[in-house]
Amino acid sequence: MVKKLATLSGCYTYNYEMDSSNSSKQNNNPSPNDDPADEGNEFCPGFKDVDAFVKYGLGTVVAATKSSASLPQVGDEYDFYRSFPGFQEFCETQGDTMLHCMSQIMKYHGCRAQMRDRNKLTGLEERYDLVVDANDVILEKVGILLDDTAGVNRSQQPVMPAGFQPPKIVVSSWNRKGGDSGSSSETFRLLHAKNITRPQLKFREKVDNSNTPFVPKIFIKPNAMKSLPSYFTNKQIRKERPEDLDVPAALADFIHQQRTQEHVEDMFAHPYQYELDHLVFSENQLSKPEPQMYKPLAETKCSFIDNVEDLVAVNEKLTKTTEFAVDLEHHSYRSFLGITCLMQISTREEDFIIDTLDLRSEMYILNEAFTDPNIVKVFHGADSDIEWLQKDLGLYIVNMFDTHQASRVLNLGRHSLDHLLKQFCNVDSDKRYQLADWRIRPLPEEMLHYARADTHYLLYVYDRLRVDLWEMGNGQPALLQTVWQKSKDISLKKYMKPLFTENSYMDLLRKQKKAFNTQQLAAFRLLYGWRDKLARQEDESTGYVLPNHMMIKISEVLPKEPQGIIACCNPVPPLVRQQVNELHLLVQQAREMPLLKVRDPEMPLFGPHDTSRVPESEFPSFSPKGKLFTNNVLCLVLLVLKDKDTVKDSGHLTVAQQKAYIIVDSFQNPFRMYLPSTEIHISKNAKFDPSTKIYEISNRWKLQSIEQQHKELEAKKKEKEDAKESTNTGAKKRERVASGTGESNPKPNKKLMKAADKQEECIPPAVFKPFDYSQSDFKVFAGTQPHALVHNLFVNDILLHLHTRPSFFCGPKSNACAGNRSMSFFGGKSER
Ligand code: AMP
Ligand code: MN
Ligand code: ZN
Repeated sequence: MVKKLATLSGCYTYNYEMDSSNSSKQNNNPSPNDDPADEGNEFCPGFKDVDAFVKYGLGTVVAATKSSASLPQVGDEYDFYRSFPGFQEFCETQGDTMLHCMSQIMKYHGCRAQMRDRNKLTGLEERYDLVVDANDVILEKVGILLDDTAGVNRSQQPVMPAGFQPPKIVVSSWNRKGGDSGSSSETFRLLHAKNITRPQLKFREKVDNSNTPFVPKIFIKPNAMKSLPSYFTNKQIRKERPEDLDVPAALADFIHQQRTQEHVEDMFAHPYQYELDHLVFSENQLSKPEPQMYKPLAETKCSFIDNVEDLVAVNEKLTKTTEFAVDLEHHSYRSFLGITCLMQISTREEDFIIDTLDLRSEMYILNEAFTDPNIVKVFHGADSDIEWLQKDLGLYIVNMFDTHQASRVLNLGRHSLDHLLKQFCNVDSDKRYQLADWRIRPLPEEMLHYARADTHYLLYVYDRLRVDLWEMGNGQPALLQTVWQKSKDISLKKYMKPLFTENSYMDLLRKQKKAFNTQQLAAFRLLYGWRDKLARQEDESTGYVLPNHMMIKISEVLPKEPQGIIACCNPVPPLVRQQVNELHLLVQQAREMPLLKVRDPEMPLFGPHDTSRVPESEFPSFSPKGKLFTNNVLCLVLLVLKDKDTVKDSGHLTVAQQKAYIIVDSFQNPFRMYLPSTEIHISKNAKFDPSTKIYEISNRWKLQSIEQQHKELEAKKKEKEDAKESTNTGAKKRERVASGTGESNPKPNKKLMKAADKQEECIPPAVFKPFDYSQSDFKVFAGTQPHALVHNLFVNDILLHLHTRPSFFCGPKSNACAGNRSMSFFGGKSER
């Protein structure tokens, strides 16, 4: 023990001294944050960089370890030395000092620190535990700070402006310990950006987080070739909602539309679909341009636009140009759907930075320029921008050139904006602020500068890329045409709200590749539902409510006590702390599940009737070698099923047969999942890529709504009747069931792949059979947070309904087929 304490205290004493020396230094010197010169030189007071700090730290630890190793060993010399009162006294004072020192450090880190009670026999073990606990806490903190410094932002906390970068967090927490004056507390406030008020509070139109599809925010349509449907122009219709319902606006709208059956198509169509379909690229656009050099930043006027008059003036200027560049900055941590915070626009003459938080409800004004087919809008990597424009601002783009697409067509190797800026403008851009918290107001100078650089050079880049495209295409417009076409397809994208279904959680779990047992799986499902609901309600991102890794940890550990849930989270998310008892109940509920192992993390199939959990793409091949046939239980069920109809029809059942029949009847037909989905019209890639919306949607559809199951039942009944007439055996019958939707191929999976191979081919619209909402019990939707189950049933109904209308999701062919990335950031995102 003496040895251990010595080791630890050596290390901690060092830290402690560091700490106090730092705080005393703080009294004379301004905070390093205030002095940029100092900031560049020292990693922390007394150390020029991390290496120096680590070297010193290691040296101290080694020295302490050595000293403790050379202390007399217990049971050996130590007992001998201890017989001298002088030695004993010395040991005791030293021990006290060390314990005092350690408890100070532990207290400082907010750990339990009852270190000095040396009388109890059990004291030693207890103290040892305390030290281990404290070590954990401290190391965890170190880990978090290291992650921060390395840019691995575990909590997805927004990045702060320069001068408030992570390494200084360490310094400032020392400042706090020193109980210092004003400068340090100010540093602290900025670091945590506590002074950012939620912009949502000032939005004129409340954010609609309800679990219903997104309806375009447009009520005036400039540059229309086909006028805006009356649904959008007629305020009366939009506002007229079922009055007895206390449901979110979009839901009420939707129900209303279902009742009137007039505007459904319009509600989900792209408002500029027709104009984009009829867009003609001008002669100019398809020929070799003369690059026009950008104006130097210093000579370019840059205006910050935060009021309507100025916005109107910007629009006036834009409508007089032939091209301008646009970019957006978006925040997604403290909001469920995300918020567009800033819009940058550059003409050949000047730069504009528009506060889209202040002007959120007025931004539609810009549609006049944005949808003018005679004005080119240049974006870099517009996939998300197109969606954000629709989602927050009701803006659409007609005639766009996406420099990211051009870079791809040119095969430039790297397609990020930085790379293009370096190549064509020799500008070193710093993408450090890409993930900054763009809600900050007033915007710090560095952030404004960064934002401006995103569009300032873009028109010149556009020129240069077109020249290259022309030349690479041997003086023919083919490559230019490709880029214009691809860009147009991106403009045709439609924003889609993330919708929650009973199965959403499986998509996330699959990505984590965790092998959960039934209890863990149940916990994960419940936590996922809790998180989604709370995030919508509080208008926070799911990552803010409960980050994925913590949700997985809780599901894995299944803590018995609320305290255990807290222990799974570090740092503890505020809403978790607030609702820990609710969470605890969910975990308890999961613990009540019968405990079964899920054999394969890729196949979390724990009941033969549980087809809903398995995505079509992961269905085992239907062959004797397939996984299904290694599952004895399922095999048995299949056998029983096979006989089921014969047995039932034969009229004379034994008791055993009757029992078997009842059991089997309680299962869904496992072949259900092999049935071909007749209305899949998405690309192969998008459908099998878990990061795409299409993947999510296609899985969701596979759930097959009650109505669809009903249809299947009907079909099956018919099958049976047919079968009665023939002399077919059960096995034959099974095959027929599998082909119940009129297909002769028993392996729909293959069939699907084949269909998907014909990429971007939409299946012709099925006969439209509207869902009759007049039959629904609307009362169950009352309140903004209906019971999850009801909620889901309803969403499934809607989705099924929409499913019969390919135009809703398919829209422009390439849109759906390109794999809609929507609100998530995966893969290609970092290239922007
Ligand atoms: P940019 O077009 O590069 O200015 O990025 C626009 C917005 O996209 C930023 O404000 C971020 O909100 C978001 N964003 C860009 N890159 C990433 C990324 N790698 N991860 C998450 N969000 C990103
Ligand atoms: Mn962008
Ligand atoms: Zn940007």
